[in-house]
Amino acid sequence: MTQHPSLVWFRDDLRVADNPALRAALAHGPTVALYVLDQDSPGIRPLGGAARWWLHHALVDLAASLKHLNVPLVLRRGPAAAVVPQAAEDCGAGHVAWNRRYGGPERDADSAVKAAVRAAGRTAESFHASLLHEPWELATRQGTHYRVFTPFWRELSGRDHRNPLPAPRGQESPRGIQAALESDDLADWGLLPTRPDWSGPLAEAWEPGEAAGHRLLEEFVGARSGRGAPTGPAGLAAYPDTRDLPARGGTSRLSPYLRWGHVSPFQVWHAVAGHRRDAPEGSAVFASELGWREFAWHTLYHRPDLGTANLRPEFDAYPWHRADGGDSRAGGADDDGDARALLAAWQRGRTGFPIVDAGQRELWATGWMHNRVRMVSASLLVKNLGIHWRAGEEWFWDTLVDADAASNPFNWQWVAGSGADASPFFRIFNPEAQAKKFDPDGEYARAWIPELGTDGYPEQCVDLAQSRAAALEAYREAKDAGAFEAAARGRA
Ligand code: FAD
Repeated sequence: MTQHPSLVWFRDDLRVADNPALRAALAHGPTVALYVLDQDSPGIRPLGGAARWWLHHALVDLAASLKHLNVPLVLRRGPAAAVVPQAAEDCGAGHVAWNRRYGGPERDADSAVKAAVRAAGRTAESFHASLLHEPWELATRQGTHYRVFTPFWRELSGRDHRNPLPAPRGQESPRGIQAALESDDLADWGLLPTRPDWSGPLAEAWEPGEAAGHRLLEEFVGARSGRGAPTGPAGLAAYPDTRDLPARGGTSRLSPYLRWGHVSPFQVWHAVAGHRRDAPEGSAVFASELGWREFAWHTLYHRPDLGTANLRPEFDAYPWHRADGGDSRAGGADDDGDARALLAAWQRGRTGFPIVDAGQRELWATGWMHNRVRMVSASLLVKNLGIHWRAGEEWFWDTLVDADAASNPFNWQWVAGSGADASPFFRIFNPEAQAKKFDPDGEYARAWIPELGTDGYPEQCVDLAQSRAAALEAYREAKDAGAFEAAARGRA
């Protein structure tokens, strides 16, 4: 009997262990793997520059891991709804499998693929792999989705989370299949930067891929260095004390590995749960950070417009600058030209506020920024400089190696005050006070700003007290205009 092959479609799950779609495909029979560079399906957001760099290396790593399993990886480009059914046709697949995604355009694309695959007489199956729980499984007593983190987390953390699946055993070489399937050459996708090639510091900071992600996880949860280790991961036990100190490397740096699916949330959850006894506080605080990741993705599932619309529509009346040549309003900048100059200063790490500038330079060089610094930097942009959170979100989208469609806009809206369970608008981070508290010796700032303390370092680009007052006034005016109440009534 000839067995129809299976096609497993990889997306944000670039790993072989704990990959239910891959296991299912292999259980069906000879398996071919597919990755589609889809920048063409309606609404799919093109990847940013740092993400493209990561993806290139992640695919090299995935191809090597799959090779050990004798599973060929085929690369194709184009809209998924056309490319995936065609690849299934080309290899005569009887079965197509993938792990689910949760963004609006991605779900639309997946539905179209499912319909086309089934219409051609094949089976199509999707699996749960990237979140601890499916967004539709959690609901408040009123049957709505959670808008507040604490009850969301209470429910999520009280549930069981399945154990991670081991890496599958490989297959006999799938003779005949590979020849029939044409694959793009990864180099032709042009994911790596050239002219100029700015990726040197990224490559020094990161090793994309599944094995590197697991090494990092093991180092972090297993670190014995305890509290106050000056270099290397301080580990789970020290996490509550060190996670807010950007100079200390106290966080796991797992975000890009979770973003690309090199490690799964189940693997992280269970690795951390294994340390509940020896690091009770650290494992609880760290697990709740995974909870914020879940909360962001569940929010995106229920609000596919998270990246483009204020979740609290009353913020539509707030006079943010777009800094994109469009409208110009009140706030730190007086006109759109000013706003664009301030946005550029912020992007390049030349605002005159060392903690912000160090963060922006860390981001530019390495594709990552410490969470505390992300919050301070985002607050300066949206509150003191009066620039719309979408301008900041777009910059992060292009420069972060961990940028994703949920966590990035979710956190920007959290800082701006317009989001789910957001920080209240009047809580405006003061970058000087934050630096005193979280970078007291200026170690982080000095590490990223060599000219700090010399004439070459810029003056502060905005008066903190004045811009704070202007932001609060703009907020009050928007409220007084009745827009907030009207919008809130409209929602109720
Ligand atoms: P750890 O402290 O070790 O946390 C462990 C994991 O928990 C992280 O890897 C991440 O997956 C998750 N996590 C922690 N904090 C958050 C959070 N606030 N929201 C969602 N997940 C969280 N994170 C992204 O993964 N992608 C983004 O695009 C992103 N954009 C952000 C934009 C802004 C303005 C801000 C303030 C935060 C953003 N974050 C984003 C959240 C957070 O800054 C990063 O997840 C964190 O810095 C990653 O470092 P880590 O892995 O060492 O974190």
